[in-house]
Amino acid sequence: MGAAAPESRHTMKWQGRRQSTNVNDQRGRPVAGRTVAKGGLGVVAALVLFLLTGNGSFLTDLLGGGVQAPPAPSGRESGYTETAREKTLFEYVSVALADIEDTWNQVLPRSQYRAQYEEPRLTIYNDYVDTACGGANSGVGPFYCPGDKTIYLDLSFYDTLVQRYGAQDGDFVMTYVIAHEAGHHVQTLLGVTRELSALRQQAASGAISQADFNRYSVAYELQADYLAGVVARYMQQRGYLERGDLTEAMSAAAAVGDDAIQQKAQGYADPDTFNHGTSEQRQEWFKRGYEAGDLSDWDTFREII
Ligand SMILES: [Zn+2]
Repeated sequence: MGAAAPESRHTMKWQGRRQSTNVNDQRGRPVAGRTVAKGGLGVVAALVLFLLTGNGSFLTDLLGGGVQAPPAPSGRESGYTETAREKTLFEYVSVALADIEDTWNQVLPRSQYRAQYEEPRLTIYNDYVDTACGGANSGVGPFYCPGDKTIYLDLSFYDTLVQRYGAQDGDFVMTYVIAHEAGHHVQTLLGVTRELSALRQQAASGAISQADFNRYSVAYELQADYLAGVVARYMQQRGYLERGDLTEAMSAAAAVGDDAIQQKAQGYADPDTFNHGTSEQRQEWFKRGYEAGDLSDWDTFREII
């Protein structure tokens, strides 16, 4: 917990602005199946079932790299109490989600798809959570579940991202994280997630190779980075960004690149197992989304596959 409190850094202009009403606070709430999960088996079983049924392997979402997710931090199982810093972070992400809603409520109807935006929910939990995609512990990192159209986030991920993955210490890294997950929601609304699920099933049955599927996965993830860039552009246009915010987002995108994660975890990178894209690719597509500010340039599949 050595990271500085968000308000002590240069910071996105967020105080006093609208907070989303779609945030669901489940911190400290007892969860059904939790005792099983503490032993690890419940989570593993849920994950395996989830992967086999082809509903999507979104539980390891932001962090790809083909590396096993670390176990959840322990010792916080009982008597959760919110710290002042977590209170600030909670309010911050509530404003960030409101910005994401405003972005897509404006951008989607004006896009080539003329689609209406259906707002996703954001569940903040600690340690363990049950979802329509199965149970998860916070070790898997933030993720989006298409089954209940909800983004799941443990606020401790902020410290993980900065301390373990080396993202810059600044609150806008969390905007990048949530906007990336909300990008998967946009992909779900527009049918891209369904296509990826079909491809996952083809890989499971051997119709396409795992390496081929990984390339689709990379395109899918880079598209979510592009969509996060669109959100950043919307915020810039409204004057919400402060100097340094974009650098923070770019540093977070670099920190969660497959090559960076694998290099840190095992000392080398294996491109065949990449499923989220390299640091360079993630930064590039975030930037392209930022530059376009809409869906005109979002077809990562055309360029990656
Ligand atoms: Zn993702």
